[in-house]
Amino acid sequence: MSTTNLRTIEIRNPADGRTVGSVPDHDADAVADAVRALRSRQPEWEALGPRGRAKWLLRLQDWLIDNGAHLTDVIQSETGKTRFDAEIEAPAAIDLIKYWARNAEAFLTDEHPKPHSPIGRTKRLITTFRPHPVVGIITPWNLPLLNPCFDAFAALMAGAAVLVKPSEVTPLSAVALGRGWTEIGAPRVFTVLTGGGDTGRAVVDAVDYVQFTGSTKTGRAIAAACGTALTPYSLELGGKDPAIVLADADLERAAAGIVYGGLFNAGQACISVERVYVEAPVYDRFLALLTAEVRRLRHGRDGREFAFDIGALATRAQCEIVRRHVDDAVARGARILLGGKPTGVGTFFEPTILVDVDHTMSCLTEETFGPTLPVLKVADEDEAIRLANDSAYGLSATVWTGDRRRGERIARRLEVGAVNINDAFANLVNFAIPMGGWKQSGIGARWGGAAGIRKYCRQQAITVPRGPALKREPLWYPASRWRSRFVTTAMRAVDARGLRRLPLRRARPARRCTDYSTRQP
Ligand code: NAD
Repeated sequence: MSTTNLRTIEIRNPADGRTVGSVPDHDADAVADAVRALRSRQPEWEALGPRGRAKWLLRLQDWLIDNGAHLTDVIQSETGKTRFDAEIEAPAAIDLIKYWARNAEAFLTDEHPKPHSPIGRTKRLITTFRPHPVVGIITPWNLPLLNPCFDAFAALMAGAAVLVKPSEVTPLSAVALGRGWTEIGAPRVFTVLTGGGDTGRAVVDAVDYVQFTGSTKTGRAIAAACGTALTPYSLELGGKDPAIVLADADLERAAAGIVYGGLFNAGQACISVERVYVEAPVYDRFLALLTAEVRRLRHGRDGREFAFDIGALATRAQCEIVRRHVDDAVARGARILLGGKPTGVGTFFEPTILVDVDHTMSCLTEETFGPTLPVLKVADEDEAIRLANDSAYGLSATVWTGDRRRGERIARRLEVGAVNINDAFANLVNFAIPMGGWKQSGIGARWGGAAGIRKYCRQQAITVPRGPALKREPLWYPASRWRSRFVTTAMRAVDARGLRRLPLRRARPARRCTDYSTRQP
């Protein structure tokens, strides 16, 4: 590995500005070296098979359990988030390991599909799933331990070697995870390489598959680079998730759920509730409940005491985005019902409720990724759906209603990758269904049963002859009228419809075509 690069990145706790560590800023040579090493070790890893690989993943699971409290400390130190928010990351990672360790073998087993026609019965058909040798995983800063785990476990279980490039803002948790993999003595097919955007670019250039989670802007740049290199990729990008509150909803539950869904992690979750549409008859009552919920939240710098509900934002720049969205809304006529400004020493922003908002405001059109809840009154279900769909993003949505069937019906009209009815984040913890964004929120999806692990594989088709072999297949050379008729007649008999199947009559000569334009008649 290259030792020429001595630049380092200093990591600070955004809640108080304290330096909490530093990591190397790896250059392109270091990335290329790491990928070469991973590629050379990957075949042995693949050869272990799903059961052999699951053993290592389950040892990592033990390590995560044994080191959970320490990992939570590390997460808090580099994000400034509350204990409550940080504590969930390790258990969620453990849950995910179990899912893949249990199911990978079935998901990766060869398929033996039936031939689509009787003519194909001369072959045994096999579809195999062979991993991309090296998967590069590039992650953001909001869930610094969980983001790498979200994708690395599936890729490792698929038989790929994995290189994680965590965010330069919060790399320490991923580095700790990499240390865990070393400590359990696992094959060296999982590497964490720190650095900034240039390191990420080098990863994209070097690996065989790119799994990216982050902003839509960076996702677009990565898609362009992958397009040029013809490297397969999957993108999990930003969102502007709507919540729809209908007049028949349990309003207490809706208010509590939307506060959690919107303000978890100080609003820094891709699937945060970022805008709320409420049916007119219950607007005032819902707003009163929502305000009471938010007013109760404790906001500040947490330790290990679970003393606060809402922590710091991860960066000063993120705090500025939130401030810009609130200021823009107020300048255009919105009212702040609660909160509305930065507070404290670090990067804290008050949990904020905005009303009298509309779709000319950035707080309703751009991703905020902060603790704001803009609330809009709508006439009815149709208007709520129209406004919810009026977005460049399409990650997920929530619908709050007393009628579950109605909720399901509305879900099918929303242009998003996931809809949770009377709950927030439920799809994030149900690995049997896919998590992926539509529109500008992504390409591809994670999890979702077999597709979630097969995405890290190349499908290979194998045909094996059945029965005795002919010296020569009917369509092999030399050309012959008789054999051509034999094959085409058999295909027609099998595939065509009605009397046309039977070549009883001579076919009428086709009309000579002289017009090759693509105009529709
Ligand atoms: P970001 O796009 O700025 O950075 C993400 C990662 O990409 C970092 O590791 C960064 O170093 C790297 N990077 C930057 N430029 C690169 C380039 N040209 N090539 C390769 N890598 C590059 O995002 P962020 O600010 O760290 O994270 C916040 C964003 O992540 C939000 O938009 C949020 O919605 C999104 N997010 C999405 C999901 C999801 O699953 N859909 C989950 C979490 C966060």
